[in-house]
Amino acid sequence: MVVGAGSSGAVVANRLSEDSAISVALIEAGGEGRSALIDMPGAFGVHALLKRYNWGFESERCRGTAYRRHFCPRGKVLGGSSSINGMVYIRGDASDYDHWAQLGNRGWSYTDVLPYFRRAEANSRGADEFHGADGPLSVSDVPNDYQAAEAFVEAAKQAGHRENLDFNGARLNGVGAYQFTVRDGQRCGTRLAYIDPVVARRNLTILSHSHALKINLAGRRAVSVDARRGGARVTIRARREIIVCCGAFATPQLLMLSGIGPHDELAAHGIEVLHGLRGVGRNLIDHPDVAVGYRSRRAACCTYSAMRRATLSGEVGGWHNP
Ligand SMILES: Cc1cc2nc3c(=O)[nH]c(=O)nc-3n(C[C@H](O)[C@H](O)[C@H](O)COP(=O)(O)OP(=O)(O)OC[C@H]3O[C@@H](n4cnc5c(N)ncnc54)[C@H](O)[C@@H]3O)c2cc1C
Repeated sequence: MVVGAGSSGAVVANRLSEDSAISVALIEAGGEGRSALIDMPGAFGVHALLKRYNWGFESERCRGTAYRRHFCPRGKVLGGSSSINGMVYIRGDASDYDHWAQLGNRGWSYTDVLPYFRRAEANSRGADEFHGADGPLSVSDVPNDYQAAEAFVEAAKQAGHRENLDFNGARLNGVGAYQFTVRDGQRCGTRLAYIDPVVARRNLTILSHSHALKINLAGRRAVSVDARRGGARVTIRARREIIVCCGAFATPQLLMLSGIGPHDELAAHGIEVLHGLRGVGRNLIDHPDVAVGYRSRRAACCTYSAMRRATLSGEVGGWHNP
């Protein structure tokens, strides 16, 4: 059983169900999300506002930012955050993976993970030592004829930054144009890349609108998941294993609700500790995203137009005002 059908869960469910001897249930709190607002790349900014496909979390008040709360969007739909994200195709730096391996995680060095990145990818530039051309995830250059973007890159070069023509190649740093997870002008999230091609598999059951509430343990073994589905609480049993792919916020939350986590945190919420594990819910690192907008007399902005259309059609409640 795979809980969470986002960037990771969709891939895991797809790959596991390749083996017809294994039956896979994919549990997702959100719906199917068949909407132009997801498929249309230019509409991505809408999802910072639109709650339909977004959990719309808010941070605790942050000392460094005058005790303000910050908006933390996360996808709640098939494809998860890959259905609402900015589609920039960017891997971690090679040193990140090597550091994981140095910490004792065998199989996670950059040399170890690179074949999987290549296997996943259908890069429109073709295959090379860093890229694949035959995978399910389309990665492409998007037409970029904004003079402002060109001027930005030029100015950065003049300021001493190196131009980088491939952020997922030999080095991550530099300035240049990103590639995007876009296929033929359409967002290529994990729903399009990994779920849609295999929905007909008889050994794959996709349960959308199913919010996992708790993982049930028998001793130290996870055996079933309680979920809210169609207004009722149901128990879904796993014959073999339960793989939790609910994302960086909801995975530790689900574990803690299930009694797996740090003693003090669980005790504070009156949850019985079934498996004390200090690291659960700790050490999250995220990056702030600050968009600065300027009005241009030259270039039209598709994100703005899409947002305006969505606002007019009533799909978006209003601008988010932190
Ligand atoms: C607005 C935004 C822009 C971003 N832009 C980029 C970008 O341009 N490039 C980039 O590389 N990364 C970007 N990211 C980050 C990237 O999308 C995420 O790192 C990635 O999608 C995380 O994958 P995941 O599988 O861990 O979680 P998710 O994709 O978030 O999947 C988790 C899934 O679990 C489901 N779920 C959660 N709780 C439960 C529950 N209790 N029961 C059942 N289902 C549950 C969720 O609904 C969701 O579908 C962005 C993220 C956001 C939110």
